[in-house]
Amino acid sequence: MNTPITASILYNYVQCPQRVYLDFYGDPSEKDRVSPFVELLWERGNSFEHETMGKLAVLFADLHLLDSEEKERRTLQLIQNGEGIIYGGRVRTETLLGEPDLLVRRGNGYVAGDIKSGAGREGINDKTDGKLKKHYAVQLALYTDILDKLRFLSPDRLPFIWDVHGQEIAYDLESLVGKRDGRSCWNYYKDCLKSVLRIQRREEQTLPALCSACKLCHWRSYCRSQLNRHNDLTLIPELGRAKRDTMSRRFKTVRDLAQSDLAAVIQGKKTIFPGISAATLRRFQARAGLLSTPNAQPYITESIVLPDADIEIFFDVETDPFRDCCYLHGFLERDQSARGCEKYHAFFADKPLEEQERRAFKQAMDYLRRRQPCVVYYYSPYEKTTVRKLQRRFPEVASEADIETLFSPGAAVDLYTEFVKKKTEWPINDYSIKTLATYLGFKWRDTEPSGAASIEWYHRWVATGDVLLRQRILDYNEDDCIAMRVLLDGLRNVGRYAIIDDSKEVDLLGF
Ligand code: SF4
Repeated sequence: MNTPITASILYNYVQCPQRVYLDFYGDPSEKDRVSPFVELLWERGNSFEHETMGKLAVLFADLHLLDSEEKERRTLQLIQNGEGIIYGGRVRTETLLGEPDLLVRRGNGYVAGDIKSGAGREGINDKTDGKLKKHYAVQLALYTDILDKLRFLSPDRLPFIWDVHGQEIAYDLESLVGKRDGRSCWNYYKDCLKSVLRIQRREEQTLPALCSACKLCHWRSYCRSQLNRHNDLTLIPELGRAKRDTMSRRFKTVRDLAQSDLAAVIQGKKTIFPGISAATLRRFQARAGLLSTPNAQPYITESIVLPDADIEIFFDVETDPFRDCCYLHGFLERDQSARGCEKYHAFFADKPLEEQERRAFKQAMDYLRRRQPCVVYYYSPYEKTTVRKLQRRFPEVASEADIETLFSPGAAVDLYTEFVKKKTEWPINDYSIKTLATYLGFKWRDTEPSGAASIEWYHRWVATGDVLLRQRILDYNEDDCIAMRVLLDGLRNVGRYAIIDDSKEVDLLGF
C-alpha cells in the first residue's frame, strides 16, 4: 500500500515538486544533512505550539504525546463524544493522513486548525491585509477533506491558523489562491493532491530547478549536480522553473538557448512563449551565452555612475524573524582620503530585548549622523525596509524624515536594485551577494556563511552566552560588508569599459 499523503508532503509540493519525488524515491544516502537552521525552525515551531496551548484559558483534550495509533483511536473516540477542542489529534482515510494541531467543535461537526510561529497571511503592509499563504491553505484543505470524507466536518467548513501575533486567521478555501491564478484555494489543493498522487504512482515526471527553496533543502547537493549535468535552463539567473517549463519544448539546455536563432520564436515585442517578452528572452540568451563561454567576463548594459565620496560605508543588518528583532547593524567604513583605510563598526543587541534592540538602533543612527557626509551602500531593499520598521517602533531615535534623508538618492545606493539587476550581466547562476563576491575572488572566513546560519548562531549565543558564537556572527557580518565593497570595486572596474547592447553580438570585456 502507498504511503498516505500528509500535510507536509503537500507543503513540500508547493515549494518544489521534485522534492516530493525525491522524498518518495530518492536514494537517502544522497541527502545532505539537515541544516541547523531547519532544525531551529522545527524547534521554534514546537515550542511556540506548546507555549500557545499552555496559555489557553479553556480546557482541551491533549493527545500530542501519544503514539500514532493511540492518537488516531482517541481522536475518533473524542470526536464521537463531542469534545470541544482536541490538541494533537490524528485523522485519516485510505489515502490521506492529517495531524492538525487543533480540531475544534463548531455546531454539529469539527474544523481543523494549525498553530504557526509565522504570520497567518503574507504581504501585509500599510495598504493591504495581505493574502492567504498557499502552503498553509493546502495543509488546512487536506484536514478539511479528511473530516469531510469521515463525515465529521462542521457546516461552517472554515479551517484556521492561530498565528505568531496571537490572531485567529480564518482560511476561506473558496477564496482565490492568487490574483493571477483564477483557482480557489480548494481547487488549488485538489490540483496539488492530484499531482502528488501522480508523482507517487510515477505517472508524472518532475525535474529539479534552481530556486530559493534549494538553500534549505536536504537534496541541494544532489540536485545541483543534476542541474549542472543537464545544463538546465534554471542555471540562468532569474529564469526559474515556470519559464524553464514554458520554454523546454524549444530549448532544452543553457547551450541550446545560447546558440539558437531567436528570430524563429520572437514576434515583435512578444515571443511564442506565454508571459515571456522578446526583451526578456534576449536577456536570458545573453546570460546563457555568458554561462556557455569559457572565461566569460561580466559587462554592463547601461552606463554606471557611482557617487564620489571620501567616506564610503557598507551597511548590513542581521535580523531574527522568529523574534521579529534586528540584532546587528554592521558597517564597514572606507576612507578614500586616508588611502582607503577600512574599519568595521558593529552595534549588537546581546539579548533579543526591546531595550537592547532600541539601543543598537540608536548607536547605529548616531554613528551614521557622525559620519556625514558619506555614501552608504547596501545590497537589496532589506536594510532600508528594516531601518524604516525600526523607526516606526522607536520614533524617538530618528524621525521618518531622518531615515528618508539617509536613504535619499546620492546619499545611499542599493547596489543590487540600482546596478546589478538593471545594468550588468555576469557569468554566474544567481545574483546573491555571496555568488557575486565569490566570483570576484572574495572568500568568507566562515565555512558555512549564510543569513540563516547567523540566526541559528544568535539563538545559540542567547541560550549559552558562548563568546565564540558572538564573534562568529560579527565576523560573518563584517565579511558580508566587505563583500559589498568588493562588489562596488568590481562595478567600478567593469563600468570603465564600453556598454554592450545585449541584443547585438556580445563583445566580452575583462576585469
Ligand atoms: S534541492 Fe531544490 S530542486 Fe532539489 S528537491 Fe530541493 S528544492 Fe527541489
